[in-house]
Amino acid sequence: MMDKRQKALLMFSGGQDSATCLAWALEQYDYVETVGFHYEQRHAIEMECRMTVLEKMRSLRPEWEAKLGQDKIIDLAALGAISDTSLTRDVEIIHNEQGLPSTFVPGRNLIFLNFAAALAYRRGITTLIGGMCQADFSGYPDCRIDTLNAQMQAISLGMDRAFTLETPLMNLSKAGAWSLAQELGGEAFVELILEQTHSCYMGEREVRHDWGYGCGQCPACDLRAKGWSEYSRGL
Ligand code: ZN
Repeated sequence: MMDKRQKALLMFSGGQDSATCLAWALEQYDYVETVGFHYEQRHAIEMECRMTVLEKMRSLRPEWEAKLGQDKIIDLAALGAISDTSLTRDVEIIHNEQGLPSTFVPGRNLIFLNFAAALAYRRGITTLIGGMCQADFSGYPDCRIDTLNAQMQAISLGMDRAFTLETPLMNLSKAGAWSLAQELGGEAFVELILEQTHSCYMGEREVRHDWGYGCGQCPACDLRAKGWSEYSRGL
């Protein structure tokens, strides 16, 4: 029997962006699976948070629970082993001569997309969803729409299957992402994101700010705090 439900596979890290994308996916599709990647991130906290976020989203809305399929974690330790970055080593966050922060993991999104597509292929899913965002991010070249379109074309050709990638946050500001979360899941979902999702590059979860947990200093905290401040002031 053909499964005619609209299915999608979401790349889910447990951060603010992918949690918002998950709510978006659960409103758009009949069935959504999730995939996460372990690449020897310096801080295990991100992987712990992603399980909690998944669990809390299941209990937040029965209609979300009904559509949420299995979760898979793919081990990409080899990526961590060859990456000399602030996310995979105890290296200070600095900017290189191109202006890219040392939190940039070369090839990361390109590799994630390949593995996500390979998993989707096996599951009979052709729609991938990711929280990439080019409008308000640290300038990561693998978050840009041109890069992603080229990669999806290569994947579709190489697997001889027409894959599509949905990036609902691509042109949203961080404040816009909070507004979208509010639209999709109301105050309770915004609260869930504040309390449970993790963005901080330093793995800090001791101090609770009005925008959530984090060191308050790193570029990820900076973006999150700025976005929250604009969102809560209604900008
Ligand atoms: Zn931080």
